Amino acid sequence: MLLQIDKVTKYFGGLCALSNLSFQVNQGEILGLLGPNGSGKTTLFNVVSGFFSPSGGRIFFDAKEITGLRPDRIAGKGLIRTFQGANLFKNRTVWENVVIAHHLMIKANFFELLLNQTRAKSDEAAVRKNTQEILEYLDLAAVKDEPAQNLPHGLQRALGVAIALAARPRLLLLDEPLTGMHPEESRKFIELVRGLRDRGITLMIVEHDMKAIMGVSDRIVVINFGQKIAEGPPQDIQKDPQVIEAYLGSEVLE
Ligand code: ADP
Ligand code: MG
Repeated sequence: MLLQIDKVTKYFGGLCALSNLSFQVNQGEILGLLGPNGSGKTTLFNVVSGFFSPSGGRIFFDAKEITGLRPDRIAGKGLIRTFQGANLFKNRTVWENVVIAHHLMIKANFFELLLNQTRAKSDEAAVRKNTQEILEYLDLAAVKDEPAQNLPHGLQRALGVAIALAARPRLLLLDEPLTGMHPEESRKFIELVRGLRDRGITLMIVEHDMKAIMGVSDRIVVINFGQKIAEGPPQDIQKDPQVIEAYLGSEVLE
């Protein structure tokens, strides 16, 4: 087990966005987190990655408690998230974005490196080499000198992943990565996600679109109104009466 979410609750004032939520993400799997809009998916990502403190419950990463740690400390452990929508420096080039991401990560790890008495590896040559590798892996090398804002949607998402990869994730959290993609872009992106998993990165992917997530996930957790309503392999989730009910009137039946 890589990530354990144990009875996590999150209130915003009187609104209960997450309610006593427990599940785990296993090493090496792709876990799909499914739920209608407003069900608490992004809130869970914010709580797990340290951007929000939970109102109750605990979170463990690699068997160590991370509840309430600062986002940079959590990221330093290899738990990396992308953001819903863009998180790029839009007027910087693709290359610059990934180099900047490396430097931000080196900064985040600086004190841990000091404690370990390891020399801070801010070596420019290593950053350039790793940047080049990441861009080639994500098919972004050909557009490395383009400003991020000029990229088509699918490539902007790939750049979001490139930025996340610069942080050397062990667990990567993707928030609605397929939103706004053409079918061909989605297909490519799903292939990419599988490739990351094959390279040893565990993934948790948030989606509200049930169809999109079915094909790519090893296991699915469904939440509604901040509560877990189902958990299991995709084929079981698809015919779960509570899941179907949660999605009544939404995009699944359109
Ligand atoms: P999802 O990502 O599943 O669409 P969210 O986690 O964004 O859902 O939102 C869950 C609920 O929490 C919604 O009712 C939303 O309005 C509320 N919410 C999310 N973030 C905040 C916040 N920062 N402050 C207040 N309410 C919030
Ligand atoms: Mg969301």
